[in-house]
Amino acid sequence: GGAALAFSLAACSGGGAGSGGDSSDKKPADLTIGVSMPTQTSERWIADGKAVKEKLEAKGYKVDLQYAGDDIPTQSQQVDQMITQGADVLIIAAIDGTALSGQLDAAAAAKIPVISYDRLLLGNKNVDFYVSFDNYKVGVAQATALLVGLGLQTKDGAKGTAKGPFNIELFAGSLDDNNTQYFWGGAMDTLKPFIESGTLKVKSGQTRIEQAAILRWQQETAQQRMENLLTSTYNDGTVVNGVLSPYDGISRGIITALQNAGYGKGAKKLPVVTGQDAEIASVKLINDGVQGSTVFKDTRLLAEQAVIAAEAFLQDKQPQANDTKTYNNKIKVVPAYLLPIQTVYKDDIQKALVDSGYWSAEEVAAGQ
Ligand code: BGC
Repeated sequence: GGAALAFSLAACSGGGAGSGGDSSDKKPADLTIGVSMPTQTSERWIADGKAVKEKLEAKGYKVDLQYAGDDIPTQSQQVDQMITQGADVLIIAAIDGTALSGQLDAAAAAKIPVISYDRLLLGNKNVDFYVSFDNYKVGVAQATALLVGLGLQTKDGAKGTAKGPFNIELFAGSLDDNNTQYFWGGAMDTLKPFIESGTLKVKSGQTRIEQAAILRWQQETAQQRMENLLTSTYNDGTVVNGVLSPYDGISRGIITALQNAGYGKGAKKLPVVTGQDAEIASVKLINDGVQGSTVFKDTRLLAEQAVIAAEAFLQDKQPQANDTKTYNNKIKVVPAYLLPIQTVYKDDIQKALVDSGYWSAEEVAAGQ
């Protein structure tokens, strides 16, 4: 049928990767966009998938949206299937940035443009565009929120009144996710002078990313690591004052470990804990003064950029990038469209999340 025709025309056209074959002659209803998402365990990816699907369908396109349950072979299979079923564009948020190289080769052979969604696909030249947020700035924002929470800095970047020294611990994301390096890099560049001056002490000594990383960003793994840190490092009467966390799920694991160890009761204050994604469970904790902050990345805007990029490829055009030098995937620098981020403290919930319609006031306040 149409897919086979599209394939043979594309195969003869000899255009470069991203030419989109003959798709520019087709009606939206004849075009399918394959959307491959990593997992449904984190609410942001559900929102991303839903927003991308709705926006594409509103323009009349067909959408094949698949979630891979954080399982690499499942994601490979799902993308393989999108290709054999004749997808016209692929939008992929990878579990492991390096694991889909075979699929990227197959997509290029079939002249299917590939858009890397939020997480950069690595080690293959057949990545045509990248839509994401400014990931280095996410790390800077998280470290800054830690400094602000401890009173070492004010929200507008001035010196705070606190002196320290403070005990902190560091968490990083999954090492197979390219974003992890950027979050960590931004955070460590920001914390480094405070660590070097002794104002901040990573009491466990675990300052390498390999020690701080949490595979697949899992809440339970983070809880376990925090429990281990409390036992190994803080059973001498000292307390932890701050924890750098790269993602709200990890933050909640950390907070659970701390609460189980008596933090948040009486004089033993919960440490300042950072986050990312403005997940509703964490927004509630921020509203209640339990989690310190999160970094809000509006998935609706990211979905919109992915749709704009997909449509450009379908019309045989190059999507407009606003960054053409940062994201080297180890084979090439991938043109990117990066969106801004926003730190959300308790005071910002109303304006950033409720007024913008991301969460309702009821959702934020409801059933603790
Ligand atoms: C995303 C974050 C998310 C994390 C865990 C990263 O690639 O950029 O927004 O918190 O994955 O899902």
